[in-house]
Amino acid sequence: MAAIATARASVVQMNRLVQGGRKVLKEKLEFVPSDDIEPIMSFDQMNLKDELLRGIYNYGFEKPSAIQQRAIRPIIEGRDVIAQAQSGTGKTSMIALASCQTVDTSSREVQVLILSPTRELAAQTEKVILAMGNYMSIQAHSCIGGKSVGEDIRKLENGVQVVSGTPGRVHDMIQRGSLRTRHIKLLILDESDEMLSRGFKKKIYEVYRHLQDTLQVCLISATLPNEILEMTNKFMTDPIRILVKRDELTLEGIKQFFVAVEKEDWKFDTLCDLYDTLTITQAVIFCNTRRKVDWLTEKMRTSNFAVSAMHGDMPQKERDAIMKEFQKGLSRVLITTDVWARGIDVQQVSLVINYDLPNNRELYIHRIGRSGRFGRKGVAINFVKKDDIRILRDIEQYYSTQIDEMPMNVADLL
Ligand code: ADP
Ligand code: MG
Repeated sequence: MAAIATARASVVQMNRLVQGGRKVLKEKLEFVPSDDIEPIMSFDQMNLKDELLRGIYNYGFEKPSAIQQRAIRPIIEGRDVIAQAQSGTGKTSMIALASCQTVDTSSREVQVLILSPTRELAAQTEKVILAMGNYMSIQAHSCIGGKSVGEDIRKLENGVQVVSGTPGRVHDMIQRGSLRTRHIKLLILDESDEMLSRGFKKKIYEVYRHLQDTLQVCLISATLPNEILEMTNKFMTDPIRILVKRDELTLEGIKQFFVAVEKEDWKFDTLCDLYDTLTITQAVIFCNTRRKVDWLTEKMRTSNFAVSAMHGDMPQKERDAIMKEFQKGLSRVLITTDVWARGIDVQQVSLVINYDLPNNRELYIHRIGRSGRFGRKGVAINFVKKDDIRILRDIEQYYSTQIDEMPMNVADLL
């Protein structure tokens, strides 16, 4: 007995060593190898619907990313899954893909519900679903605040299979009876740590309450702090976890720098000096408050710099117009708040500026992750006042990363 136990222990140890070895070989491996998950190296081998496969290739994907290789199969097999991987590695795309695979298109009932923290992200996910599911004529709809309630009701009544929404509007539609929940078999929370944090938790629960006992639940995010993981046993059954270690969270492709400023006023001049660098491709500038976004936008414009701005106090129509312009590359510099920190995918963004340092460590990773999408090059520049250096060092240490002083030739890195 004891001998068997010892033998087993050494097998376990060996597996660990082998896995450790693999990690050294493939430095970009972005998760803690979990259980017996065998990566599936091609979309062809995933047993996907033919029409979906065609949609995926037509969308331009050739090969699944590391997280897609591991997490797609358990999700489409109906397991509860917690999947974490770095920003820009294809998590949200994976949600779209898995949703398309999960729905039965012969029914017009809602079968998959995806919740996201911002309207823009929910809409983005809907678009990816419609594009990937193009050949299987999938019906998807984004239920988001700031849009016509009547239009939502009409769409839902016509019958859709996937709803991608923000919690408030989705809950509203459920209460009105327009969003029927009886056939929802899969709930996916994108940016799930944000969705389960104080601001959203209650609303999510109110939605969850209306769903079936047999519901499959998937949590997706780049950041999943322990306090969030600890509460997952309340609504998940025997989940498979595919997790990244936090010191592997920052992407190699994103170079991080800081500029030390004596006082707040100097930030503005620093930004103006950097303007040519901002416009090499596209840049996102983060401020901590909506008022500051307005103030900085005004000040930049007065100094004749072209910038656009977006935040949560603006009417949705205006938010949509600004997003569209930026996505098309018609505007190159966007000043915004953390409404833009999570999930938004504009591949041309290669520079992120933290005009203000973010209020927590998770937000830092999400903000800088707006650049360097899917392995592209990216640069993040943090403006720091004396008191901020401490916060920056804390971030550096927490993620075992390096944030150097900005070099003169920063433009060459873009
Ligand atoms: P995440 O949610 O992890 O931040 P996204 O799903 O938003 O990542 O994907 C980031 C970018 O990478 C998007 O532009 C997406 O189209 C692209 N992408 C995702 N998966 C693949 C893939 N397998 N092949 C090529 N591009 C991909
Ligand atoms: Mg995402």
